[in-house]
Amino acid sequence: MRKVTIKLKITLWFTTFMILLSAVVFAFIALVSNSTTTHQTRGALTRLIDENIREIDYDDGQLEIDDDFVSFQNGIYCLVFQENGEKISGYAPYDELESEPFEDGSIRSVIIDGETYIIYDRMVSFKPHEDVWIRGVVPERGNAINLTAVYRAVLIALPLLIILAAFGGYLIAKRSLRPIQKISETAEDIGNSGDLSKRIEMGIGGDELHQLAGAFNRMFDRLETNFEAERNFTSDASHELRTPVSTILAHCEYAFENASGEQELYEAIEAIQKQGYRMSHLIGSLLYFTRMEQRTDAVAFESIDLSALVLSVCREQREISEKNITLKEDIQPDILMKADVALISRMLENLIRNAYRYGKENGNISVTLKEADHRIILSVSDDGIGIVPDELPKIWNRFYRVDKSRSSVKGVGFGLGLAIVKQIAELHNGSVEVESEINKGSTFIIKFAKS
Ligand code: ADP
Repeated sequence: MRKVTIKLKITLWFTTFMILLSAVVFAFIALVSNSTTTHQTRGALTRLIDENIREIDYDDGQLEIDDDFVSFQNGIYCLVFQENGEKISGYAPYDELESEPFEDGSIRSVIIDGETYIIYDRMVSFKPHEDVWIRGVVPERGNAINLTAVYRAVLIALPLLIILAAFGGYLIAKRSLRPIQKISETAEDIGNSGDLSKRIEMGIGGDELHQLAGAFNRMFDRLETNFEAERNFTSDASHELRTPVSTILAHCEYAFENASGEQELYEAIEAIQKQGYRMSHLIGSLLYFTRMEQRTDAVAFESIDLSALVLSVCREQREISEKNITLKEDIQPDILMKADVALISRMLENLIRNAYRYGKENGNISVTLKEADHRIILSVSDDGIGIVPDELPKIWNRFYRVDKSRSSVKGVGFGLGLAIVKQIAELHNGSVEVESEINKGSTFIIKFAKS
C-alpha cells in the first residue's frame, strides 16, 4: 500500500471537512435567502398594490389615476384594467401576464418562458361606476438579482478559499509534525551510531510534541546513564578480579622458583588462599547483584518479626567482630513487616560490617529500630572515621570506595556493600539516607513504608 503521511491525511480530512461545511452553509443560506426573498417580494407587491389603490378615483364620472400612482418600482409592474379586462394603464413584460384571468385578493405564480412571476389582483369597487382591477406583477427572483450575483461570487471564491485553506492546513500540519520528524531522525541516528549522548533539539515550546520530545530526551538520559553504569560495572568488576589473580600468579611463581622449605611454601599457599577467598567474595557479590537485578531469584516476601531478626543479626555480628567495638541495640519489640528474611539480613549485615570496619577501636555502634509516622525506621550509627560531605551521594554507587588508599582500614571491601543495601531497601519499597561527619562517625538510616 502506498504510504500516506500524517500531513497528507490531516490535510485531506481538513479539506473534506471544509468542503462539506461550505456546502452545508451554502445550502442553508440559499434555502433561507430563497424563502426570505419570496416572502419579501410578496410583501412588497401587496404593499405597492394596496398603496396604489388609494391613488385611483372617479371624478365627475371619469376614472382618474393620481400622479402618485406607481407603475413600476423595484421590479414590480402595476397595471390597471377595466372590469371587462381592458387595460387602462401600466405595462407588463409579457402579454400573458396581462391576459391572465383576474382573482381578487389572490397571490399566485405563473411561469412564463421559464421564469416565475407572482401576480396579485385587487378589484376596486366605485359604485355606481364601473369597478376597476389593479394587478401587480413581479418576477419571483426579481429582488434576488443581487443575491444571484452573490452566489456566483461565492461559487468562484469558495473553491479558491478551500484551496487556500488546504494549503494553509498542509503547512500548519507540516510545521506541527516537524518535531515528530526530528524525534524519529534522532532515534534513527542514535540507533545507527550508538551515540546515546545525542538529544532531540526542539527549542522552546510547551505543546504535546515538545512534551513527547522532552520525554524521549529524559529516556535517552536514563539510557545513557544506565549504559554508562553497565560499562563501568563490567570494567570495574574485571579490574577488581585482576588484582587477586595477579597476586595469586605472583605467589605461585615465587613458590615454584624461589620457595625454599615448607614454611615458605605454606606462606605462599596461605597468601593464595586469602586472594582466593577475596575473589570468591567478589564473585559472590557480583552474582548476587546480577540475580537481584534480573530477579532470577524469587524474592520471598513473608510477614516477619523484624525486631527479632535485627536482634539476631546484631548478635551474630557482635560474635564475629574482630575489633574492640561495643555494639548496642535499641529495638522496639514486635515490629512486623512483609520482607525477605535473607535479603534484610544481608542488608543489615553489610551496614554493621561497615560500622565495624570503619569504626574506631574502643568505639561504639548503635543499631535502632522503631516505628514512627507509619514508617519503620532502621538505623546503624558508628563513631568511626566518617565520610566527607562530597562523597556522600556517591557511596551508594557500585564499586565506589571513598578513598581506595584508606589502607589503615583493615579488610577494605569492593565498594559493593552499600549498593546492595540500597538495592535491597528499594526492593522492599524503602529508602536510604546517610548522615556523616568526618572523624565523628556516620549514621545510615533505612526507612520502610509500613505495610
Ligand atoms: P566497601 O565494601 O568498600 O565497604 P561499601 O559499598 O560498603 O563498600 O561502602 C562504600 C564506601 O563508603 C566505603 O569505601 C567507605 O569508604 C564508605 N563507608 C561505608 N560505610 C562507612 C561507615 N560506616 N563509615 C565510614 N565510611 C563508610
